[in-house]
Amino acid sequence: MALELTLTGRVQRIDAARMVGTTVPLAEVTLTFRVWQRRMSLFRPNIARISGYVPGEQPQESGWVKLNTNENPYPPSPQVTAAIDRAARGPLNKYPDPLSTELRRVVGQLFDRDPEWILPANGSDENLTLLMRTFVDPGELVAFPYPSYVLYETLADIQGATHRRLVLNPDWSWDFERIAPIIEQSKLVFVPNPNSPSGNRWSQDEILRLVPPRGLLVLDEAYGDFADEPHRGEIFDSPAGERIVITRTLSKSYSLAGIRLGFAIAHPDLIAGMCKVKDSYNCDSLSLAAAAAAIADQEWMLANTAKIRATRDRLGQALQKLGFHVAVSQANFVWTTHPTRSHQEIFQELKRQKILVRLMSFPSDDVDPSPPVDGLRITIGTDDEIDILLNALKQIG
Ligand code: PMP
Repeated sequence: MALELTLTGRVQRIDAARMVGTTVPLAEVTLTFRVWQRRMSLFRPNIARISGYVPGEQPQESGWVKLNTNENPYPPSPQVTAAIDRAARGPLNKYPDPLSTELRRVVGQLFDRDPEWILPANGSDENLTLLMRTFVDPGELVAFPYPSYVLYETLADIQGATHRRLVLNPDWSWDFERIAPIIEQSKLVFVPNPNSPSGNRWSQDEILRLVPPRGLLVLDEAYGDFADEPHRGEIFDSPAGERIVITRTLSKSYSLAGIRLGFAIAHPDLIAGMCKVKDSYNCDSLSLAAAAAAIADQEWMLANTAKIRATRDRLGQALQKLGFHVAVSQANFVWTTHPTRSHQEIFQELKRQKILVRLMSFPSDDVDPSPPVDGLRITIGTDDEIDILLNALKQIG
């Protein structure tokens, strides 16, 4: 359990579990606080103020049914292992290709774009950071749907940007009238499509209404390959296309969360600007080789995503039979809530049985008030893993 102690406006996290039953002399608390305050003053105020993004748990021991971080339960293409093997026997004493030439070519082919439209990075998260650093000055406005991927807010805080939430309706649709003034003033609007944690996917017409007139729309398609309808950048052909950046990742559909490789697709002028900001060698030789091999084996990726879609639909129906509400998902996870039971208790009981799902809560905010949302986000595992989960949920009752 973590206790949040607010002291002169700053927040410190304390491990309450370790402190239960402990008597701490006031002088010691004061001294500890003074040392902490002196150390905190070294940080940029923006950094001192935030608690930082906390990724889902990655247990290091085996035996878990791990359905909490939207990893793919199936292994990557055998071509990937072979490519890593070859790259590992190559010139590792030399820096990798700073332009990621081969991967840009392969991705460009897939999306029917010239290589200049593509920017590989160390996971989609690096591209999201690059976008923030390239286009947003401190004080400029960044917006994103709420609830959605929590990292956007953290990145905006780190950059010293102002941020606003585009509060979604309870059915995950847009309240366009409410958000229009925010879009109007935004420099960057981040939109995951399919969204996380809900898994729903908005139509191209809806997405086009979110392009800021004086900024860029970042369309985060981390889960794009799990949608029923295949799509590969058709939105660039719309009149607003030059102000849209798509980000994709190999972490999910290509089963490669472990190698950290994502890519952005956008007009070459935008990509050229982002290249000025990126590290010279932001992708290593092994990841570049692995990613090119994975992209080349479309058949493997498509077979895995089809299996995941089928399991997703089965899980959704089974959860509904157990009395849960389930959002319609186009991703490799489902968002589920129970009308009467405590999500925290379900989460804890599953965890006790070594089944890990993601318990998420999205509190309201003074500037953009929203109804509090909480529930469970469940990654689609193998059929066996989902059966284990469903049996546990049946027993929990
Ligand atoms: N966008 C969204 C919406 C995500 O959920 C994630 C995964 N946490 C990412 C981006 C980051 O993906 P990557 O592993 O490529 O950094």
